[in-house]
Amino acid sequence: IDFEHCGFPETLNQNLKKSGYEVPTPIQMQMIPVGLLGRDILASADTGSGKTAAFLLPVIIRAFSEDKTPSALILTPTRELAIQIERQAKELMSGLPRMKTVLLVGGLPLPPQLYRLRQHVKVIIATPGRLLDIIKQSSVSLSGIKIVVVDEADTMLKMGFQQQVLDVLEHTPGDCQTILVSATIPDSIEQLTDQLLHNPVRIIT
Ligand code: AMP
Repeated sequence: IDFEHCGFPETLNQNLKKSGYEVPTPIQMQMIPVGLLGRDILASADTGSGKTAAFLLPVIIRAFSEDKTPSALILTPTRELAIQIERQAKELMSGLPRMKTVLLVGGLPLPPQLYRLRQHVKVIIATPGRLLDIIKQSSVSLSGIKIVVVDEADTMLKMGFQQQVLDVLEHTPGDCQTILVSATIPDSIEQLTDQLLHNPVRIIT
């Protein structure tokens, strides 16, 4: 595939070009078409492979076509990773109407995050602990979420976040599209896949 032939909005094609994305990376070639079809995905991909854009493009297309706010959720193990993902998301979504993002991450003050959350954001980028706190105080509803990404799933497990991830996803609709990305696929990730994904397409690189 070629980005130009994905049927993306023209603004998104221009943003891809501006960011220097001309040719999709191998993981993007595999993940984007399957992601756009709405299938669940288990992907093994490491930093530097272009994995972030590989899940962001299906997320952006899905959220762009939905009215519900929020409609997309990206879970990451660390604040730093969440910040990087948001930066890339903003670059790709620049100029697309009604496509606000919010960072809900630990280690930063909560009130500005809650304020931003109330501005009809489409895409949540979160660490599991902070998001659970916000769910528990009823400051967010995840009932409109259509697509979920769990990035660096193996790191999530290593950091002991498995139960928190499961608890967060309990609050999303059962028929959400789910994309799980992990550098490695040990047995524990296979088990998480069985718990979270429905008939996933496996993209093992
Ligand atoms: P990631 O593996 O998602 O951390 O991405 C690694 C780097 O590659 C990031 O700086 C991206 O902006 C860049 N990148 C991702 N996809 C492409 C692409 N198709 N063409 C050029 N650069 C890309």
